[in-house]
Amino acid sequence: NGKPLFEDVQGDIQVSFEFFPPKTEKMEETLWESVKTLEPLGPRFVSVTYGAGGSTRARTHATVERIAKETRLAAAAHLTCVEASRAEIEEIARDYWAAGVRHIVALRGDAPEAGKAFQPHPDGYANAADLVAGLKAIAPFEISVAAYPECHPDSADKSADLDNLKRKIDAGADRAITQFFFSPECFFRFRDDAAAAGIAAEIVPGILPVSNVAQTRKFAGMCGASIPIWMDRLFEGLDNLPAARQLVAATVAAELCGQLYAGGVRHFHFYTLNRAELSYAICHLLGLRPAEFAA
Ligand code: FAD
Repeated sequence: NGKPLFEDVQGDIQVSFEFFPPKTEKMEETLWESVKTLEPLGPRFVSVTYGAGGSTRARTHATVERIAKETRLAAAAHLTCVEASRAEIEEIARDYWAAGVRHIVALRGDAPEAGKAFQPHPDGYANAADLVAGLKAIAPFEISVAAYPECHPDSADKSADLDNLKRKIDAGADRAITQFFFSPECFFRFRDDAAAAGIAAEIVPGILPVSNVAQTRKFAGMCGASIPIWMDRLFEGLDNLPAARQLVAATVAAELCGQLYAGGVRHFHFYTLNRAELSYAICHLLGLRPAEFAA
């Protein structure tokens, strides 16, 4: 309707930020700077991913604990079923509970070798729905699960995928966070289909601010997300112009979030890739201010 996209933002949004556990001291520094930059925005929670095959178990734990200890943020730990027995999962979950962590992002995970089908551990959980039920039996965790607006590659079709999401919610999950996507219509359709399938839990869009299309394409190929052709065109010729690339990235992600906001979305989950700038800028455009500046 020709109206500026951000004219009506009220700052009435909630956000959460996702990080991955750092591998080196330098990466740890970057992560920590990002956490400190984003903290004043008062996210509902920040989450820390769990590497393929449980490879980051110790690093995920250390990062989550450090956030819980050194910030006022609510920290959520991602946890997968990959190569873990139920007893191992129980030990990890109890350690988190003892460390004051009350929120788990419960996932099935993928086979450690790319392209191979997921095989449950013989004494482990078969999928995320089973993991949710197992965690709930251990302690009253808040639980988030994954959702796929463009369908998970292992699902026969969209309705099987929604049935699976419903099983996860029925097992006790509090909300679903989506895989990244680039079309607001795709999210709105998924939200409507989920409601029609009887899923009442909140569905939070996962926002990936893209500044490297080639890397995103590689990742998207593995998880069933599609990259629109226009996005390649937008980033054409910017390989050696990082500042321009950041501006384009912020514009694309802000436009997506503005349209989601106009469609009623009030909670956004950001895949930060451990960098604060893009996520911070988008939150700002959506009207969010650090507590000291809030009205
Ligand atoms: P599930 O929901 O268990 O199932 C995946 C698919 O398999 C479903 O779509 C379903 O249709 C099918 N399926 C499952 N059970 C059955 C059944 N009984 N019968 C028939 N079909 C079934 N991965 C990591 O390794 N670490 C992370 O930290 C991580 N964080 C993530 C965070 C978010 C927000 C998202 C969206 C994904 C994340 N992932 C992570 C990726 C995730 O592990 C993969 O997408 C994985 O392939 C599926 O995990 P899931 O929890 O969605 O699985």
